[in-house]
Amino acid sequence: MSSYSPSIEKLIESFEKLPSIGHKTAIRLAFHMLDLNEEETNEFIKSITDAKSKLKYCSKCFNIADTDPCPICSNPKRDQGTICVVEDVRDIIAMERTNEFKGVYHVLHGTISPMNGIGPEDIKIKELLDRIRDNDIKEIIIATNPRVEGEATSIYLSKLIKPLGIKVTRIAHGIPVGGDLEYTDEVTLTKAMEGRREI
Ligand SMILES: [Zn+2]
Repeated sequence: MSSYSPSIEKLIESFEKLPSIGHKTAIRLAFHMLDLNEEETNEFIKSITDAKSKLKYCSKCFNIADTDPCPICSNPKRDQGTICVVEDVRDIIAMERTNEFKGVYHVLHGTISPMNGIGPEDIKIKELLDRIRDNDIKEIIIATNPRVEGEATSIYLSKLIKPLGIKVTRIAHGIPVGGDLEYTDEVTLTKAMEGRREI
């Protein structure tokens, strides 16, 4: 039985719902919040509500940003003809850390996964095809994660895009199988990009 008051208990429960937060950490965070003064508390709440209300999806690449189009899509120095296809917004951040890629991105927001009932229509594939049709695209680099779903999605995309006469490449397997782009270091990621092969 818990001996915390109901409102603290509720706060602990809220923290526990966050990824990677166990019960002990949730308790620690809850009590930390109670120690904040009013100004700090309001600032914290505002940062969450601002992020939720101001952030939007870029209508071109489906990155999450304060502006639409996002800063990458609207940067004239970026090569709009080279699109790197990633699963998740966090993969863009990982790629950008390398400072090597000068093209633009397309975020699928997932991978095809029949086991989990996720089909091609559930992720941003149609939007990618529309983008390819409406723009002068030279190369599509598929940078989905090297897991079963990521590979299957890569093959699916290649079969759709190659007949359009566009070069399709897949990043090299420097990334450990089952690993996440998000947690891959810059050097490995740069090598994976450099070693990309046409598929
Ligand atoms: Zn964008």
